[in-house]
Amino acid sequence: MVSVVAVDGPAGSGKSSVCRGVAQRLGYRYLDTGAMYRAMTWAVLRAGIDPSDQALVSAFASTPSIVSGTDPGSPDIEVDGTDVSEPIRTTEVTGAVSAVSAVPAVRDRLVALQRERAREAGLAGQGIVVEGRDIGSVVLPSADLKVFLTADPGVRALRRAREQSGGEAVGEESITETGKALSRRDAFDSSRAASPMTQAVDAVVVDTTEMTLEQVVDHVCGLVQR
Ligand code: C5P
Repeated sequence: MVSVVAVDGPAGSGKSSVCRGVAQRLGYRYLDTGAMYRAMTWAVLRAGIDPSDQALVSAFASTPSIVSGTDPGSPDIEVDGTDVSEPIRTTEVTGAVSAVSAVPAVRDRLVALQRERAREAGLAGQGIVVEGRDIGSVVLPSADLKVFLTADPGVRALRRAREQSGGEAVGEESITETGKALSRRDAFDSSRAASPMTQAVDAVVVDTTEMTLEQVVDHVCGLVQR
């Protein structure tokens, strides 16, 4: 039976919902590495540091304590003892997270924490689903299963715009703006020097454009069980 599942893919491809669904169904732990980069970004902003100042961010990277929960039912995350699950989703953090994530000292620190979480799950005899951008390629290259989730950019923009509106109807303008923000972030995440978003050579590509969440969860659980 598979025990470490690495799921990578661009923003809005449905990673979080799919990974939580798969982990819940299989009784696995769940780690959202994007939330860890967001938590570091929140801490950088709170400290009054300019997120585009690589030297200052690098010097700060070892300062905050970042503790991420691994319960797929309520994946909370704390910075220095404060629950930041909500504030890490603000547009301010989303707008700064790619710059902070590109700093090698930030990645070194967070990748070490991510590997530790995966190791702990193994020691406890539990599987874990880890989602991010570089999990199959860099963080856990020997994962038992690697999945790369994709979806048509228009569909990703629509899904993310709906998510942000809390289920309300969304207009064309908001979908277009969301799409532009997603593609800016993807371009930055794919082109940075340190551990860019990568599709591992041995990853199974799952295009979710025409699939419901339930279908994707079924499909990935099927891959795990195979
Ligand atoms: O997954 P999410 O969209 O919340 O990720 C936020 C940001 O964190 C990404 O845009 C990327 O800059 C960074 N990230 C990363 N490596 C990961 C996960 C996320 O660089 N493994």
